[in-house]
Amino acid sequence: MIKLARSVIGTEEMQEVQRVMTLAFLGMGKEVKQFEEELGSYLGGEKRVICVNTGTAALHLAAQSIGLKAGDEVLVPSLTFVSTFQAISATGAKPIACDIDSTTGFIDLNDAARRITPNTKAIFPVHYAGATGNLMGLYDLARSHKLRVVEDAAHAFGTSYDGKKIGSFGDIICFSFDGIKNITSGEGGAIVTSDPQVINDASDLRLLGVMKDSEKRYQNQRSWEFDVTAQGWRYHMSDIMAAIGRVQLRRFETEFKPKRLEMAKLYRKLLADCTGIRFFEMHPGTVPFMMPIRVLDHRRDPLRKYLLENQVEVGIHYKPNHLLSFYGGGKISLPVAETLYSELLSLPFHPQLGENDIHQVCEQIMSFLKDPERMSLRGARGDGAIALC
Ligand SMILES: *Cc1c(COP(=O)(O)O)cnc(C)c1O
Repeated sequence: MIKLARSVIGTEEMQEVQRVMTLAFLGMGKEVKQFEEELGSYLGGEKRVICVNTGTAALHLAAQSIGLKAGDEVLVPSLTFVSTFQAISATGAKPIACDIDSTTGFIDLNDAARRITPNTKAIFPVHYAGATGNLMGLYDLARSHKLRVVEDAAHAFGTSYDGKKIGSFGDIICFSFDGIKNITSGEGGAIVTSDPQVINDASDLRLLGVMKDSEKRYQNQRSWEFDVTAQGWRYHMSDIMAAIGRVQLRRFETEFKPKRLEMAKLYRKLLADCTGIRFFEMHPGTVPFMMPIRVLDHRRDPLRKYLLENQVEVGIHYKPNHLLSFYGGGKISLPVAETLYSELLSLPFHPQLGENDIHQVCEQIMSFLKDPERMSLRGARGDGAIALC
């Protein structure tokens, strides 16, 4: 089976975990502080980085730190991992699902603008597959309506926009370091911002709201006589996770990033002549996180079945959240998100994929799309003579 995604961990990560395992504390300590500082300088050094135990926790703490509460509304693209929606609803605020720009997978800014009400407090864009759409347009919209921006940059670690790294500018940026992301710390995440209040709140809230506990933990100490002024969570990162993350960060520019760029280039080259599929636009500076394609003419499900039968694991990113029972169960309709949901297919994409694997996947896709038998099965349009590849 050619795998859709996987963690890529080497002997150096294992050695570093072993080193940390010999320390007196395994929880949040010096290693986490170092990872935060190294991430900060990688991103450009202007913002603070607060590490937590998942990307979802990062989004939740960002949402809480900007004061979201019941009665507030938050604009969010429907085509995202349910994590973005859950982080918003965890504060009591209501996620307002928005439609998608079909060329980039980014939130449709016109649709988002139409959904602004006096209760709208924030917008959570998602950098779908590692690329970002009109991010400057999004910040303009936010500014003109006084909305906070929390970027779900779970897919976009390492991506640059307009020559600047995602996480080096903007309001609040959240990364995920789960097992298959551009870099991993096993599980993990980070909040990146220069807002002193968010830095302060998120630092405390990740440690059950115990005030100023982060500084103590960095020294392997505890707080004994502390105060708590808000509901917090057990969201801190451990030194074991940070040890993995630090090695992955060192490998990123030299190893993971070039590999991801090469794989995307090869897929696009090999499938360039297939008229039956479409790629999303990737602006210069994108580090691709996954390889979603759109399969046109109602052929996604048969192609998906064909690939699975031929030992190629594929996925669908994502079922739009407005269709989930908890978020309305399809009470509203978002035409582009729903069309994309019927067309999307994510192809195998991880740094251990060989060139020959990509050739094999593309050959399978082409042989499926070229097969006249399959074309005549399309039925609906009855124009079986059009070659789709
Ligand atoms: C991975 C991911 C997250 C956060 O996931 P965690 O598993 O909690 O680290 C959030 N949003 C998107 C779009 C993701 O892909």
